[in-house]
Amino acid sequence: MKFLSVLAGASAMIASALAADYSIVHAGRLLAEPGKAVLTERSIIIEDGKITGVLAGYVDAASTGATPDDNVALYDLKDYFVMPGFIDSHVHLTSELGPRAKLSVVERSDADVAVIAAGFAKKTLLAGFTTVRDVGASGDDAVFALRDGIERGDVIGPRVFASGHTISPTGGHGQRHGYRGDVFDVIQSTGVCDGAAECRKAVRDQVRRTADHIKLVSTGGVLSETAAGTGQQFFDDELKAIMDTSHALGRKVTAHAHGADGINAALRAGVDSIEHGTFSDAESFRLFKRYDAYLVPTILAGVTVAEIANDPNSFFPPPIRKKAKQVGPQILDMARRAHAGGVKIAFGTDSGVSRHGDNAREFALLVDAGMTPMEAISSATIVGAAHLGQSDLIGVIAVGKSGDLVAVGGDPLTDITELENIDFVMKEGVAYKAP
Ligand SMILES: [Zn+2]
Repeated sequence: MKFLSVLAGASAMIASALAADYSIVHAGRLLAEPGKAVLTERSIIIEDGKITGVLAGYVDAASTGATPDDNVALYDLKDYFVMPGFIDSHVHLTSELGPRAKLSVVERSDADVAVIAAGFAKKTLLAGFTTVRDVGASGDDAVFALRDGIERGDVIGPRVFASGHTISPTGGHGQRHGYRGDVFDVIQSTGVCDGAAECRKAVRDQVRRTADHIKLVSTGGVLSETAAGTGQQFFDDELKAIMDTSHALGRKVTAHAHGADGINAALRAGVDSIEHGTFSDAESFRLFKRYDAYLVPTILAGVTVAEIANDPNSFFPPPIRKKAKQVGPQILDMARRAHAGGVKIAFGTDSGVSRHGDNAREFALLVDAGMTPMEAISSATIVGAAHLGQSDLIGVIAVGKSGDLVAVGGDPLTDITELENIDFVMKEGVAYKAP
């Protein structure tokens, strides 16, 4: 058999790894299943993108079952801490907040959006996030093209689960705001609905467009340029129509929600998860547990919008600035109460509000909110996988799972900020970054 030389530098790494039939990772420390003990001196064998062995000691190529004609890539991570690839359950790969974001809506074609999103996807993967859930896309079909291009191997990025356009009522947080009427008529995306019948149709339309899950806005939001507050926006019959239609079509539903009224209404209507959850009250936490729903707090988004709003030269217009100052500082404290109250928390950043590639900043914020480093890592791996209904594929390092691994030189269980500088990234057995 031929040993491929594993060189420093991403392009050499990608070329060598793509050519390998088998990969062996020698892991000095291995957190195979977050929540359980860290193992030492293990070998992970990956064949055709799937993990086929997690063995004690540092094994050689003969242990892989490789034939003399097979290429075997060996990754020496004896001085590293190896974990399952991370899952970010709340990103927006087709956009990034900034002073020109509003204008870009009328400047960029859908092709531009897709190419720009490919750049964001690569940054996200190289930060250690091998799976993302995109919960609301700009452009038309760009996010689906990106998802499919990554799956084919044409584009470098994380595995993507995408909702397409957000389901929103007229004038709601998911609709565009702050444009001239005739411009608005041209740029308005699909997904806007009023009344149960239209909302069923809106869900069906996103599923026809190949959405993996459905995202709705249950309440107002910070970054819509409208002084409409952060309270409930869909009525209960509309929420129920969206849930029932989505679930009948085999799609989970997640609700953007800040105000307690909209959080609680969405939970009662059967939503699978809540994004942000800013003004959750005791009743909200009771409902989360009763309905076994997940919270994706996106603390980083709260920190980011508060920073921009408090900048004297803020590019936020007045309605957004006001909401950002109200919502931003609340999320960390809410996440602390939710965690203490036993609510299941899945890791999510709202990247696109914060910069793509900075996703790992959320880890330290989750620890600030009372999680142990192990719990924070679990929220981005084993819990995130369960939240997405993908536990068969991702979330742990075990035989049969996808070869999605990340590693750092330090010990993230003593310093969680180690995860902000990932040294090794492998997705489906292909290494995209190595020490
Ligand atoms: Zn978001």
